[in-house]
Amino acid sequence: MTTQDVLVLGGGTAGFLAALALKKELPPHIGVRVLHSSKIGTIGVGEGSLRQLPEFLHSYLGIDARRFFAEVQPTWKLGIRFRWGAGADFDYSFTPQVCVTHPHPDLSRPLGFYCFDNLREHSVTSVLMDNEHAFLRAPDGSPLMEGNYGYHMDNRKLAAFLERYALEQGIELLDDEVREVSADADGVRTLALASGQSVRADLFVDCSGFRSLLLGDTLGEPFVSYRSSLFCDRAVIGGWQRTQEPVRPYTVSETMDCGWCWQIEHEDRINRGYVYASDFISDEDAEAEFRAKNPHITDTAMVRFRSGRYRRAWVKNVVAIGNSAGFVEPLEATAIAAICSAAKMLAQTLAQAGDCAVRDSNRDIFNRYNERSWDTIADFLAVHYRFNTRMDNAFWRSCVNEVDLRGAQPIVDYYRDNGPCNHWQLILEDPLCRFRLDGYYTLLLGQGVAHAQLDTPSARERDAFAQLQKATVQYAARGVGVTEALGAVRGEHWQWRPQHFGVNPGI
Ligand SMILES: Cc1cc2nc3c(=O)[nH]c(=O)nc-3n(C[C@H](O)[C@H](O)[C@H](O)COP(=O)(O)OP(=O)(O)OC[C@H]3O[C@@H](n4cnc5c(N)ncnc54)[C@H](O)[C@@H]3O)c2cc1C
Repeated sequence: MTTQDVLVLGGGTAGFLAALALKKELPPHIGVRVLHSSKIGTIGVGEGSLRQLPEFLHSYLGIDARRFFAEVQPTWKLGIRFRWGAGADFDYSFTPQVCVTHPHPDLSRPLGFYCFDNLREHSVTSVLMDNEHAFLRAPDGSPLMEGNYGYHMDNRKLAAFLERYALEQGIELLDDEVREVSADADGVRTLALASGQSVRADLFVDCSGFRSLLLGDTLGEPFVSYRSSLFCDRAVIGGWQRTQEPVRPYTVSETMDCGWCWQIEHEDRINRGYVYASDFISDEDAEAEFRAKNPHITDTAMVRFRSGRYRRAWVKNVVAIGNSAGFVEPLEATAIAAICSAAKMLAQTLAQAGDCAVRDSNRDIFNRYNERSWDTIADFLAVHYRFNTRMDNAFWRSCVNEVDLRGAQPIVDYYRDNGPCNHWQLILEDPLCRFRLDGYYTLLLGQGVAHAQLDTPSARERDAFAQLQKATVQYAARGVGVTEALGAVRGEHWQWRPQHFGVNPGI
């Protein structure tokens, strides 16, 4: 099948990011259109990202960061602070923390061996987070905007910006509603619209959100549930206008009675959401718990979801991206990163397949990719539930006793015997897993999961590690908060620079 005409169904984050990637990669004679319904609107949630989003927007699509900051008004996210597990709070940051070795002669093993009791003070990012600083300060006093960060942003502002930008790139936009879909043995043929018009295309990219109108509804692709690992299926969402609270450069995720709650920081607003399991708590009780812990909350809204993915994302002439392909609860805020990589993979697959021909092998490999992309996220999330011992109630006892660790089991088994050792990283780590071995070990150490090597660091090693912590705290003490950094971005001379990985830079 050759592709001359691509129709993206859906104008949420997934629809526009997919359309922009296709427009960038495909030859100009191939039409890219977006069909969406402003009456139906977008999901309106999806506010935290991983570091893949800034890379995708600015490095890959070439969107000017200064304009993005002016129109979408994001803030920076260095990672997640977990109020989780029985022990102290800990950070999962986008910069490797525990699987790294340090060039100190007395610290021969990865840092994770030395920080069972305190995961925060040896990592620059974590010290920045402790001090509520987004960046280190350069010698001239300005923010040193380097390192690994994602964005916090308002989902509706992001979708509205992407719509404007897509129009500027020559993407055609249709605002109408699909009423009926006709399909045959080769896939989807036509979409009949509310206006009476009907549209055809060679390839349909289904970004219709949880409806999964083409892949799930029309082609009947089976859904693979993650319910044996992830019990939550609803969220109650609310927020309030910021007053004196500092703008934190991280998301907070904290344990609740029957799930967990996020706190996401916008410049003018604080947004919270309680993700809960409806088998264990009623909607009314969840809302009451949410309001009791967040007395400033004004209006609330409830979203239902199911965690899982479609067996295949690309079937015949339909490829699903975004919530229409798969979904896991936003405990690590992964959906937008999954959208970015699927959009890029699809666009590049078509672009390199001469005449944009689609072969079975292209579909198969994309489907394998999509499967692993979602499954590796579900595996990682399972670890958050299985080892969280902060609460003793029916929900958390079920998590501790019943959560299926899925693909995470071999990593957990290895860690229990060998500690946070990266010797077998190549075997233990799936290259498609966004969290790497470092993320797994951070979550295991942070939740206080014991391993057999706990007592092995020598007195000399402990001493050297204490020196490293002291030096890190001193090094990162002069930082710049989000509000000051936003001022710098709005200044005349600011320029975005691609991020780079850094571990304890300068120490
Ligand atoms: C509670 C919750 C919290 C989340 N938090 C995060 C987070 O912090 N970070 C993160 O990365 N992700 C998060 N997500 C996921 C995030 O919302 C999505 O990944 C992202 O917004 C993409 O959504 P989408 O574009 O797939 O779907 P949607 O935004 O729902 O867009 C669907 C589009 O399809 C169109 N459409 C549907 N039916 C029709 C029709 N019949 N005719 C025409 N058009 C139609 C709609 O108009 C809309 O334009 C969260 C999700 C939930 C439920």
